[in-house]
Amino acid sequence: MDFLSADSLPWLHGAQQRLRASNSAQRLPHSLLLLSAPGLGAEQLANWITALALCESLRSRPCGVCASCQLLRSDSHPDSHVVRLEEDAHQIKVDQVRELIESLSLKSYRGGYKVGVIEGAESLNANGANAFLKTLEEPTANTVLMMIARPSHRLPATIASRCLRLTLSPPPTEVAIAWLMAHAEPHAAEPHAAARQSWHAALGLAGGAPLLALELDAAGVAGLDTEMQESLRQLSAGSVDVTLLADRWMKSDPQLRITWLENWITQRVHASLGAAPSHQSAEPVCLPAALLKPKIRALFELLDAARELRRLASTGMNQQLALEALLLGGRTALAN
Ligand SMILES: [Zn+2]
Repeated sequence: MDFLSADSLPWLHGAQQRLRASNSAQRLPHSLLLLSAPGLGAEQLANWITALALCESLRSRPCGVCASCQLLRSDSHPDSHVVRLEEDAHQIKVDQVRELIESLSLKSYRGGYKVGVIEGAESLNANGANAFLKTLEEPTANTVLMMIARPSHRLPATIASRCLRLTLSPPPTEVAIAWLMAHAEPHAAEPHAAARQSWHAALGLAGGAPLLALELDAAGVAGLDTEMQESLRQLSAGSVDVTLLADRWMKSDPQLRITWLENWITQRVHASLGAAPSHQSAEPVCLPAALLKPKIRALFELLDAARELRRLASTGMNQQLALEALLLGGRTALAN
């Protein structure tokens, strides 16, 4: 388990400081819900909290060198348990949760805390969630439970209300870009300013999440950004055939394009609502439709269509037809 890399993610430092203070005061929360979009390092933070709880050093924790830290680093600490989606599975199995609960009900092997983490808690089914709820209701002593879920996911209120909530937000763009410039392999041919611009586009596509942006090919993304803006301009001017456009998008990087489109619409929604531009998903969807101006309502519908399009990708259904419908229906809303 890698728990030291959290230290290199500056946007986690605030949370780390608070948790370190809680730990020093022997008040580490016994259940913690980490709400985070992908690519913000929630897993690294959960690992770090695990190490914070289990480290046996008397000085700065986690120390990384004590017996407990070494066991963690080699993934063999008997008091640390992680549950995540198994490969090719769509849900976390209830047996995985039961196994976790059983392990946590035992005495601590090393006489300290026991830590259980559920990564991707949105993949818990109702049975798994219920099994877990019992543990939350009757926590055993010296146990830390953590769940990581996406902010948009609605965990059962009975679960969420029993956890201390910690929401990770994307860092300010400048912080993210500085971090990316320092951590990515530099493109040899790319001058500094161009690199910044590329990372800017990659960050936009990654919803502001630096670790996700790092996985994207920044230079390629910058080109895509320019091309997509131009396509939308042509679309709203009526100077491009929708079928041809949809066909072209489906033939190269369709998933990136759909994500780009979703982010772009989200930014338009925020701009229309007068909110500061944000990478967060547009959650004011819960506003009553009647209160929304027609223009904003059209954007929300478009956003729903874009999300549906992304969902379709995993079903193997015909995305091109759905994309054509979105582009046709969105022509007016996409125009200024
Ligand atoms: Zn240690």
